[in-house]
This record gives sequence, C-alpha cells and structure tokens, in this order.
Amino acid sequence: MNRMADRMQSETVAEAWAACRTALDLTDEAVSGGSLAVRSPVDGSELARVRQTHAGAMGGVIESAQRAFLDWRSVPAPRRGELVRLLGEELRAAKEPLGTLVSLEAGKIRTEGLGEVQEMIDICDFAVGLSRQLYGLTIASERPGHRMMESWHPIGPVGVITAFNFPVAVWSWNAAIALVCGDPVIWKPSEKTPLTALACEAILKRALARFGDAPEGLHHVVIGGAELGEALVQSPQVPVISATGSTRMGRAVAPQVAARFGRSILELGGNNAMIVAPSADLDMAVRAIVFSAVGTAGQRCTSLRRLIVHETLKEELTRKLVAAYASLPIGSPLDPATLVGPLIDEAAAQAMSDALAAARAEGGVVHGGERVREGVPAGGAYVAPAIVEMPAQSAIVRAETFAPILYVMEYEAFDEAIAMQNGVPQGLSSCIFTRDMREAEAFVSAAGSDCGIANVNIGPSGAEIGGAFGGEKETGGGRESGSDAWKAYMRRQTNTVNYSAELPLAQGVSFEI
Ligand code: NAD
Repeated sequence: MNRMADRMQSETVAEAWAACRTALDLTDEAVSGGSLAVRSPVDGSELARVRQTHAGAMGGVIESAQRAFLDWRSVPAPRRGELVRLLGEELRAAKEPLGTLVSLEAGKIRTEGLGEVQEMIDICDFAVGLSRQLYGLTIASERPGHRMMESWHPIGPVGVITAFNFPVAVWSWNAAIALVCGDPVIWKPSEKTPLTALACEAILKRALARFGDAPEGLHHVVIGGAELGEALVQSPQVPVISATGSTRMGRAVAPQVAARFGRSILELGGNNAMIVAPSADLDMAVRAIVFSAVGTAGQRCTSLRRLIVHETLKEELTRKLVAAYASLPIGSPLDPATLVGPLIDEAAAQAMSDALAAARAEGGVVHGGERVREGVPAGGAYVAPAIVEMPAQSAIVRAETFAPILYVMEYEAFDEAIAMQNGVPQGLSSCIFTRDMREAEAFVSAAGSDCGIANVNIGPSGAEIGGAFGGEKETGGGRESGSDAWKAYMRRQTNTVNYSAELPLAQGVSFEI
C-alpha cells in the first residue's frame, strides 16, 4: 500500500518535471548528458544531469561581462529599466512552471514556490521605478561660482553567488537592481539548484530578445561548485561580489574580496528570535510562530529559531505549540494539503538530529524532531519539526542549524529578553509580540534589537520588496533589494564644477603663483 503511494508520488514528480521543462525551454541539450546530477528533494529521484562550467572558462566569462559593461554603462538608465520591465512580464507568464520547478528542486511547498516567483516580479517592478530615480545630490559649495554634486555611475560586472533555499528570488534581487544600475551579472547558483537557474536564464533570454539591442555577455550563468564562486571572488574585474549563503562561506569570501579592495554584499546565516511579552495576543503569536518556524521546513535564513517567552506564558504557549505541531501535514510539497515539505538532503536531516542530540545534552526537552517515513515519498528527507524547551541560551541555541528546530526559553524582565535576543553571533531578523507600546518602541530603538530586521506583532521570516534586506554581525552586514540598497551596485562620484572666472581654494588656503 505504502509502496503504491510512493510510486504515485514519484510519478507526480516526473509529470511535474516534464511539464516544467517544456514550459521553461529547458532543452535535452541543457538538462542531460552533463556531470552534475540534480536530485529532487521531494523523492530523491534524478531530474537531470547538467553540464558544469569548467573553472578554466571563468576568465573568458568575466572578460565577456567586462566587454558588455563598456556598452551597457552608457545605455540610459530608463532604457535599461525597460529590459527589467520585460523580464517582469516574462516572469509573470512563467510564474506557474517556475514556481513548480522551485518546489521540485528546492522542496518548497507550492504556495511558497509561487510566492518566491512573485517576489521576483515585485523586485522587477521596484527596479523599473528605480531606473528613473538613481538620484544624486546637489551640495552647497563654500566657494563662490562653484557647484558641487554627487553622481552615481555603473561600477562593472557583479558576481552573484546564491544559496539553495531561495534559488531564484535572491538572483532577481541582485540582477534586477544591477541591470538597471548599468552592471552586467555573472550568476553562480547553488550546485544543488542549477535547474531553476537555467530556467531563469531562459526567461531572461526571452526578455533580451524582445528588448533587442542589449550587448552580448550582459548576463552569464555558471554552473558548478565553490571553485567557480572563488574565481569571481578573486577577480579584480568583478568589483562587486554579492554572496548569499552560510557564515562559513562568508568567512572564506569576505577576506579575499577585501584583499583586492573589492566590495562585498554578504547575506549570511541568521538565528532569528521572537520575544513573547505578557500582553501579547497569544493566538496571533501562535500562528506567526508556526509559519515562521516550520515554513520552508525551517530552511529560510529568516526562519524563527528562538522563542523568548515571558515566564508567565511559557507553559501555556509551549502546550499550544506542541498541539499545533502535532497536526502539521508533512509530505510531498506538490500536494496542496502539505505544509511541511522535505529538507534539502540527508546531510540536512543528519545535522538536525545532531543538533537535537546536542540540545538534549545541554539540558533541553525535545518535542517532535523525529524522522518521518510513513505517508511521505520514499527517498526524501522528511522530518517532524521540533520544539525544544531549553533551560538557557546554550551553545547549540547560539548556532544556526538549517532545519525546523524551535528553541523555547523563558525570561523574567524585559531587559533580560532583549539581552537574550541580542546574545547570539548572528543579527538577521527579530520580532516582538506585545501590546505594550513602550516595549514595542524600545524593541525597535537604538537600545533594542541589534538585527537588520526588527518587527512588531509579525514573525521574523520573509521579506517584502521595498525594505532593505540583510543583517548585522555574522550575517555579514549586506543590504539588498529595497530602500537605497542600489547604491552598493554603483560607484559614487563627487563633482565640483567652477563656473566663475576665479580659482578660489577651499578652506581659505592661499597659493599665489
Ligand atoms: P552554502 O554556504 O553552502 O552555499 C552558498 C553558495 O556559496 C553556493 O553557491 C556555494 O557553491 C557557494 N560557496 C561555498 N563556498 C564558497 C567559497 N569558498 N567561495 C565562493 N563560493 C562559495 O549555503 P547553502 O547551504 O546553500 O544555504 C544555506 C545558508 O544560506 C544558511 O546559512 C542560510 O541562513 C543562508 N542564507 C542567507 C540568506 C540571507 O539573505 N541572509 C538567504 C538565504 C540563505
């Protein structure tokens, strides 16, 4: 009976893959005969074998992007925006199959796969508007007959290195902005998700064909492992490296980019918390906690990992959460009833069980967290999300485990809760549930959360286009997508223009010859 259910599930994967391939122009040539096997986390089946970029080819790729830059930088920014507008249109048309491919390749449930594509569409809209708003400043000069201003110019090829868990949105955050800013893009996707990258490349090609006269080499996708990322990181011809992934990766990348005086935009690991204060709306908090902690099976950089609960609420809230977790539908992400899909691979399941063992050793009481093998496709790494009551914020709580583990700790005084929230090496996202205005304001004040994102009465997970996204400390300090994050993709130039017949020096310096 189970075997039959499994067979039906894997046929669903095969059928969904066949439909996506056709709709997304993924030809036989593109997805077979290569050396990189792509397995679906849904059931472990092999979807494709893609060709890898040879490390020796990276020099040519970078040269080609450099050549494209020399043309693209002089195309007026609103015209560059037209390419991104067309990309947004093509993404709208491809939303369904691309969202499904995200589910097949990264294991996200369908609604989250589609949501990721919607985020791509939203950033395109944002970037199109931006293409007419790359504003500089006019600055008052102390010298008569002089005008000072600040101009923003394209900077050069941007190397984009991305993680498996947002296989398409993070590319679009970077590519849409870089393209309107006048920069070519070289994208090194995760080796776990090359198919979605090839699909995005095909979608961009459709937009380029409609655009007409973009330079050759404006956008490249290179498929393979860390060595390709390293080639970008080490090249002085790639002035900006935008790297999303683990803190371990950022530790390797950042010093190399700094050593050649390049600029890096780092979007690294998170260890995101929620404070639940005595006045919190508990029902709302429960809904926010469950989505933030188990959405994407706990594999979002902004997933909720730490719950800091007032001592008077801890027992009640833990009981409600354990009950809510017990009824979570776990299974194939292609099944519309599923809320918790698989982890990306067996290594992730092992890391989760190692973390739970460490938590027990550090005094934790674990609810759930076991491997799920019944009622799910065989071959996938399915787990029950875990809630762990911890006596303190111990070593394992301070580390990011990329899996659905929620550590619950209690606090007595508000200041203690803030100290716990800030007492980890990462600084990505955070939130508080409270109806006390003083607590809410204190949380978002200079003395409150030390994270790049601090929310009130919503969970920490996810991003909305418009706000700058990123975090402090070991999260790397980068900001992407919204607000003035575009400035990291351009070079700033200060200009002083003298329209007088005199040559006065600043600061009253006299130098007569
Ligand atoms: P990962 O660090 O294993 O890999 C990320 C990318 O970096 C891959 O493309 C990989 O090939 C490349 N890479 C690895 N070592 C490299 C090196 N030395 N030089 C150049 N490139 C290198 O991460 P992952 O497992 O794919 O993703 C999960 C991690 O990403 C989590 O820690 C998560 O928090 C983080 N993440 C952060 C954000 C954010 O915006 N802050 C978003 C998504 C994921």
